[in-house]
Amino acid sequence: MTPRATADGRAIVNAMTVDVEDYFHVSVFDGVVPRTRWPELESRVCRNTDRVLAILDEAGVAATFFVLGWVAERHPALVRRIAAGGHEIASHGYAHRLVYDQTRAAFREDVTKAKALLEDTTGLPVYGYRAPSYSITPRSLWAFDVLLETGHRYDASIFPIHHDRYGIPVSARHAYRVTRDAGTLLELPASTCRVARMNLPVGGGGYFRLLPYAWTRFGIDWVNRVDRRPAIFYIHPWEIDPDQPRLACSRLSRIRHYRNLQLTEPRLRRLLRDFRFAPVRETLEEPIQTEASPPGPAYALPYLW
Ligand SMILES: [Zn+2]
Repeated sequence: MTPRATADGRAIVNAMTVDVEDYFHVSVFDGVVPRTRWPELESRVCRNTDRVLAILDEAGVAATFFVLGWVAERHPALVRRIAAGGHEIASHGYAHRLVYDQTRAAFREDVTKAKALLEDTTGLPVYGYRAPSYSITPRSLWAFDVLLETGHRYDASIFPIHHDRYGIPVSARHAYRVTRDAGTLLELPASTCRVARMNLPVGGGGYFRLLPYAWTRFGIDWVNRVDRRPAIFYIHPWEIDPDQPRLACSRLSRIRHYRNLQLTEPRLRRLLRDFRFAPVRETLEEPIQTEASPPGPAYALPYLW
C-alpha cells in the first residue's frame, strides 16, 4: 500500500476513526454491567457522537465510524446523521463481545447481524470491521475467514504490540493483505512507532487520553515522517464526556476509562489542526476493492499462518 506521501511528511493524510459505542459497552465493564442491564442504563451515545460530528465538521474532516450494531438498532437516526455528514460507516460488530471469547459460529452471527443492520439503515455497503478491544489475536485468526465469508473487505483489529488483553506484536505495522482460502482482506493495524526495537502505540484511545498530547503528536509525526505512511487514529464518543455516570470497577480500569476525560475534546481539536485526516478509504492510494482483490503484496504473520 503506497501512501500519498509528499515532500513534507505533514501532508500525509491520516485516517480518523471513531468507535461508536456507549460508555457501558466498554470491555472493562463486561463483568460489572450485565448485558441484560444495557437497555436500562442512561444512553449518552447520541449526544456524544453528535458532539464528535460537530468537532469534525468544524475542522472540515470526514472520518470512518465503526458503529456497534446494538447502537444502530436503537438509534438508526444517529447512523443516518453520520452517513449524511459524508463519513464512512463501518462495523464494530453487534454485541461488543471479544472475538477470542466467541465461537466461530457466534462471531459469524454477530458480524452478519451488525453489517445487515448498518447497511439497511443507510442503504450503503459496509466494507470495514474493527473488533471490540482489538480482539483479533493469535487465538482468533479464524476471524479473517469469517470476515471474508460475510463480505467485509478490510479489518482494523490488529494492534502490533504486547498488551495484557490484545495485540499481535509480530504483525506488520502498516496496511497489508491477509490472504486466506476465502480470499484476500486488507488489514490496517493500529498505529505504532518503533523505538528501541519496540512497537509503541500512538494511535488514540487511552494512549491519547492518558499520556501527554506531545506523545501522540510525536508519534503521528514519526509515522508520517520516518515511515512515510498514514497513521490510523481512533477515539470513542464517551471519551469526550466527563459527566458520564461512573460504573464500579477496579482501580486500573478506573484509571484507563475515566482519567483525563475532560482533556480529550480540546486535544482532539488540536490534533485536527496539527495533522490532516480523512476516512480510512481515502488514506489508501489503492482503493478498497469491491470485488475479490487482485493478486498483490501479501504479508504472512510469522509463526501464525
Ligand atoms: Zn469498542
